[in-house]
Formats: sequence, structure tokens, C-alpha cells
Amino acid sequence: MSEPAEADPHETQLARLILALRSQGVTDPGVLAAIERTPRDLFTPELFRERSWEDSALPIACGQTISQPYIVGLMTQALTLEPRSRVLEIGTGSGYQTAVLSRLARLVYTVERYRTLLQEAEARFKALQLANIITKFGDGGAGWPEQAPFDRILVTAAAPSEPKNLLAQLKPSGVLVAPVGKGPVQELMRYAGDGAGAFRSEVLCEVRFVPLLDGVAREL
Ligand code: SAH
Repeated sequence: MSEPAEADPHETQLARLILALRSQGVTDPGVLAAIERTPRDLFTPELFRERSWEDSALPIACGQTISQPYIVGLMTQALTLEPRSRVLEIGTGSGYQTAVLSRLARLVYTVERYRTLLQEAEARFKALQLANIITKFGDGGAGWPEQAPFDRILVTAAAPSEPKNLLAQLKPSGVLVAPVGKGPVQELMRYAGDGAGAFRSEVLCEVRFVPLLDGVAREL
């Protein structure tokens, strides 16, 4: 008789992560399923691969970070995505958050100011056959006017103040989620359109994001 197969440690770590997210308030089954189906180890650098399933942010190239899974879950849930949503994401980074969004939305437009990060993320989207992601190298602070208006906008770098440029590219009943603040700790804000041109804003929690910077990076 053969021994019972040992549980795949990744499976166990993933199950633990999902439980941790749920206990912290990420309860939307669609969001949890999208996280479950997105192999975070493909998005983390070799050096930190063993820590892929921890609920922590990790360093990636160009001095940036891959977001903490709890924050990815929280932000995705706050967006209240619909299957028909066209989403703009500012700050592709590793592409992890983009991949999670792509499982829940119709189209995801994502902008990154580091060319190398964007190229690495594009290779991951291809490997995972995520065909509904459209990428752009550029300054996301300007949004993506040619493709506006969007149903949802997610900013994954800290805007110094209310991101007015981006709110202007949101549909009247759209939702924008962004860390806002100048210091090392920012407020995670949710702006929801009232359908008539005004936005109701709400503070979700405190977060620590890398800053949204002007222009594209000159270094790779
Ligand atoms: N969601 C990403 C987190 C990336 S960190 C992930 O899960 O991996 C934030 C990213 O925003 C960085 O890659 C940074 O280069 C990018 N960024 C900062 N300012 C930007 C800007 N003005 N336009 C586009 N991307 C920007």
C-alpha cells in the first residue's frame, strides 16, 4: 500500500493565506478565488520566492515592491468590479495586482514608468495566458486619456493629494481606489461617483505604498 500523498506545501501556504485574508475582512468570494488562482511565486524575485505566500509586501526590481496580498485583496474588493468593467491600473510593478484584476474584469489597462518592470510583467501575463491586459510604458499620473472613461481605476502608488486627473477619467458612477498622502503612511481612499459628476470619498485604512512619481524613469 502506498503512503498517502503529502500535502503540497504551496497549497497549504495558499490555504493559510486565504484564511488570513478572510479573517481580516477580505470576504468577497470572487476576490478570494482570483487570489487563489494567481500564482504569486511567479511574480516574486528568485531571492524571495520562498516567501511568496506570506502576507507581506516584498522587494522587486527598481526599488519597488510587490504589494501585500491582504492589501491586494482589500483594494480589489473595494473596487466592486463587475464582469463588464474596464479598469485602469496605475503602477503595474510585478503585475501581480494586474493579474488578480484581470480575473474579475473585462479589460485591464495598466501603466508603469519602469520599462524593465513592465516587460517582466508582460512576460508573466503571456505565460499565464491573461489576454485581457493592455499595458503601457508611461507616466500614469496622466491616466490614459485615449481609453477613458473607465468604470474603475486603481492606483498602486501613493498619490500626494486627491488624484484629480484620474478622477476626471472615471465614469460618473465609477469607483477609484488609491493611497493618498505625502508621508511614509498614507490613507487608502475610495472615491465613488454619484452618477451626476460628484464623488463621495471614504478612508478605508492606513497603508504604506511607494510614491507615485512624475514622468517615466530614465534608468531601466
Ligand atoms: N501592484 C504592484 C505594486 C507596484 S509598486 C504589484 O503588485 O507588484 C508601485 C508601482 O508604481 C511601481 O512599480 C512604480 O514604478 C509605479 N509607479 C510609480 N509612479 C508611477 C507613475 N507616475 N506612472 C506609472 N507607474 C508608476
